[in-house]
Formats: sequence, structure tokens, C-alpha cells
Amino acid sequence: MKKKVVIIGGVAGGASTAARLRRLDENVEIKIFERGKYISYANCGLPYYVGNVIKERDSLLVQTTQGMKKRFNIDIYTLHEVLKIDRANKSLLIKNLKTNEIFQENYDILVLSSGAEPIKPPIKGIDYAENVFILRDIPDADKIKNFVETKNPKKAVVIGGGFIGIEIADSLLARGMNVTIVEKADQILVQLDKEMANILHKNIKDKGVDLILADSIEEFKNNGKTLVLSSGKQIYSDLTILSIGVKPESNLAKEAGLDIGITGGVKVNEYLQTSDESIYAIGDVIEVKDFITGLPTLKPLAGPANKQGRIVANNICGKNEKYLGTIGTSVVKVFDMTAASIGNNEKILKKSSISYETIHITPPSHATYYPGATTIFMKLIFDKNNGKIYGAQAVGYDGVDKRIDVLSTAIMGGMTVMDLQYLELAYAPPFSSAKDPVNMLGYVATNVINGDLEIIHCDEFINLKKDNVVILDVCEPIEREKGYIDGSINIPLNDLRNRLDELPKDKMIYVYCQQGLRSYIAYRILKQNGFKVKSIDGGYRFYLNYI
Ligand code: FAD
Repeated sequence: MKKKVVIIGGVAGGASTAARLRRLDENVEIKIFERGKYISYANCGLPYYVGNVIKERDSLLVQTTQGMKKRFNIDIYTLHEVLKIDRANKSLLIKNLKTNEIFQENYDILVLSSGAEPIKPPIKGIDYAENVFILRDIPDADKIKNFVETKNPKKAVVIGGGFIGIEIADSLLARGMNVTIVEKADQILVQLDKEMANILHKNIKDKGVDLILADSIEEFKNNGKTLVLSSGKQIYSDLTILSIGVKPESNLAKEAGLDIGITGGVKVNEYLQTSDESIYAIGDVIEVKDFITGLPTLKPLAGPANKQGRIVANNICGKNEKYLGTIGTSVVKVFDMTAASIGNNEKILKKSSISYETIHITPPSHATYYPGATTIFMKLIFDKNNGKIYGAQAVGYDGVDKRIDVLSTAIMGGMTVMDLQYLELAYAPPFSSAKDPVNMLGYVATNVINGDLEIIHCDEFINLKKDNVVILDVCEPIEREKGYIDGSINIPLNDLRNRLDELPKDKMIYVYCQQGLRSYIAYRILKQNGFKVKSIDGGYRFYLNYI
């Protein structure tokens, strides 16, 4: 008898499992049951399809049912919903959504890749709103596109400033609509810390988008044309996209009595087996182990889902491969900027009571003497005792994803911030600097760990009582014309050695420049001359993101 593997969900994780399984074993029977109309499509491309950046609908279909059947000999049943898992009899109750027929299907091994569903709270008036959409699959994208093309909406409101919300806002703006984003938190993109998100807030507003933070939708009125926010504010909308997050689609697993983790995701072991060893689970539906802290977390991302699918296929074929955990490497286009991050941010570490140190730098994307260099705002979060990397965030116009990918690789390889100093990264003037921004993060963090540089973080500095301190700006006077920290005195770095007698030895000196490099040099001069001194982390450029 052939071994029979049944897969629930035929998109990222499910399709990946099926294809790898067939490559490894020509004899296994493979069946996929997918509730939707399509399998293996690029849901990550949907916002760009709505925005007409991706013009051909067919290019979203990575693999069709017929194509997959022909190439991999897999039985695929679209528009089939699995209603129940009967673990005792190793069988499924399935509904054919085209005919409403309900039937049973047995399995030897079951793979659950049912993904995550958009959160749809019972907001007052939502059932009567005719212009409110969510975006999860191709039919959702079709509905939005069709609405845009037939109703010609002028004013769009996106509720939720996460990845999908931002991408769709970008797309609707590109289609000429007047766009408002409403976000409940006081920042967009929760994977970033606030000062990093603030860089994006400014850019989004500069693009003409109305960004409403710390407010949320309370009620839809006038069939969805009027949105009432918690603050009492009312906004008009021709088209509203509800994009307030996702949660694991874990009901089937729950009802089957499989263990569910504290995050609401299905619990799996390191081989991605659920509490029933005949059932594997992958993708957005599972709770994963944070690769860095080992704590349980949810990371609904395409990369992990695809890789887990491959590992499960390997394990079904007896390879005993472990899933090591998820780092949460992510990147998103925010209009003309890019925001990328890995690992844990300050908010998560504080919640987990993990102590950490942070540094901020603003290196150029490539050598400044070669045209077109732009600033990358970077943040590194690490353990001050041993240099372990907890997370990193970067925001800028160019070279952002590359630096975050290098840092992700470093984390996976168990490197510390000290190791970042020695990474040999590709360099020519159009691409980087001889000391790449990742090396620079390593230098600054190592200086902080070694005590070669003492820093004060901008938020701490802002809240500091400043009656008995000196704030020293070592920029050139011409730079101060563009702004400076209130109460600071100016001694340009090149004059500092000759003007030390103007500074007191009994007061703490907080030194800064634009980016943190000149203030580091000033710190070294002052420290070696017996002054009490700290450098303001990230310099004036970052300071502006805190105020
Ligand atoms: P999915 O790919 O969602 O597949 C789950 C499938 O299971 C669904 O098709 C569903 O219909 C089916 N299903 C559920 N229950 C049943 C049932 N009972 N019976 C039968 N079938 C069922 N991630 C990134 O890393 N980068 C991005 O840029 C990115 N952009 C995204 C943009 C959008 C608009 C969306 C929606 C997601 C995006 N993601 C992105 C997330 C990424 O798509 C998911 O992490 C990934 O698809 C998860 O794979 P999965 O197999 O767990 O679930």
C-alpha cells in the first residue's frame, strides 16, 4: 500500500511541502485540499497587483492546479474545505464547495498549512458597509481592483499600518487616490521601535498621505462612507481596506484537540510535528521558537512557511531535520523608502525582561564621493555582556535589505557584534564603503562593550535634568544654521584640543555631532584629558527622530 500524505492548504507552505515530497518520493500518494480557488499563488504580490505595478494577473499564479498535477503528479482539490480532523480514525471530513457534497478522506500523514486569517472585529456598521475590503487572496484582490475600476473611488482609507496596510496604501496612492492611514498604535510597523518608525511617518506625510496614529475605527456609518474613530473624529471614505493584522487559522487543530501554544498558534516540536505525531503543521498557523531568545512567538512570513514545508517533506521521508526557529527577517517598501528588521525590538525585549544595549548609526548607503549615496538609519540591539545580537532595524532609500540580510546571516551563524567588525563584504564605490555599514555597527557596538565609548541614548538624554551639564556640539558653525540641540555650546571638533580650557572638569559633558563619528573622536579627546563625557547615541540626525 502506498503511503498517503494529505495536505490542508495549497499555497505557500502546502505547495512547498507537496513539491519537495514528490521530488523525494515518486511512490507516495499526495493530495492537497484547498478551500480557495487557487493554489501556490503569490499572495505577497497582491498589493502590487491592486496598485497595477504587477499588471498581469496570471503572473501571480506561481503554479496552476493542472501545472502542478502534470509536473508533480499531485491530486489537487481546490474549492474544498476541510471541516474536521478525526485523529482516532486518521480521516478528514471535507466539503466540496462547488457541489456542497461532504465526504471523508483518510490519511497516513497529515500536513496542516492553513495559514493565518485577517482579524475582522465586529465593528458597528461593518455589515452594511459596501466599500470595506480585506486582502488575503486573489479573489479579495479582484474585488478591490474591480471596485477601483468601476466605482472610481477618490478617497481611500487604510485601517492598520502593518506590512499589508502600508503596501496597499502605497498602491492606492500610486493609483491617484487621496489616502488616509489610521493606526491604533502610536506608530506604524510594530516590528520597528518608535524612533525608527518616526523616520517613515515623516516620509509618509511628505507623500501627501494623511497619517492618523493612536486612533482606531469605532463605527461605519452611511454604508461605509463615514468612518467614526475612537477620538470622535469622522472621516469620509470611498474605499476602505481593513488590514489590522492576522491570527493563526487554528480552529481545525483546536477542535481536533491538538496542543495550541500561548500565542494561539499550533504547537509543534523541532521536527514540526504537532502533539499528534501523524500530523505536521507549518507556516502562519504555527507557533514558532524565536531563533534568538528561544521564546514562543508568531511570525507570519512567507520565507519561514516555505522552508518549513521543505523540512516537513524531508521528515516525512525519514530525514529527521530540525527547524531551528525563526529570526523574523522582514522587509517592506514604504513608498520610496525601505524598512527592514530582524529579531527582537526593544518593546519585545522589555516585555521578556531581557536586558540589552542599543546603538544607532547613520552611514551612507555607499561611498559619498560616488553620486547617489543616501543615509541608512540603523539600529543594533545586543547583549552588552557577551555581544549576542538580539535584533536590528534599518530604514532608508537604498541598501537597507542587503545590510539586514547580512545581519540575519550573522545571527544564524551565531556571530556576536564583535564578529561584525571582521566581515569582509563586497565593496566598490557605487555599492558600499570599504568599511560597510555592518562593519560600522560592529565597531561602534564593540567600542561600547569595551568601554572605549560611553553613550547616552537620545530618549534618556531628552528626559535628563540639564541644569548642571554641558551639551557640546562639535559640528561646524555652518551646520548649526540647520538646527542644534537647545542649550548646546559649539566647539568644532578641529578646534577642540586648543579650547579644552573652556570646558569644566566637574560637570558631565554630553557631546554630539550630526552622525556620531565626530562626537566619538571628541569623546576620545575629552576622556583622555580627564573630562567626564558621554556621546549622544546616533547624533543629531537620530535625536530629531525622538522629538
Ligand atoms: P497561506 O499561504 O495563507 O495558505 C493557507 C491556505 O490554506 C489558504 O489558501 C486557505 O484558503 C487554506 N485553508 C485554510 N483553512 C482551510 C481548510 N479548512 N480547508 C482547506 N483549505 C484551507 N510574507 C512575506 O514574508 N513577505 C511579504 O511581502 C508578504 N506579503 C504579503 C501580502 C499579503 C497581501 C498577504 C495576505 C500575505 C503576505 N505575506 C508576506 C505573508 C505570507 O503570504 C504568508 O506568511 C504565507 O503565505 C504563509 O503560508 P501558509 O502556507 O502558512 O498560509
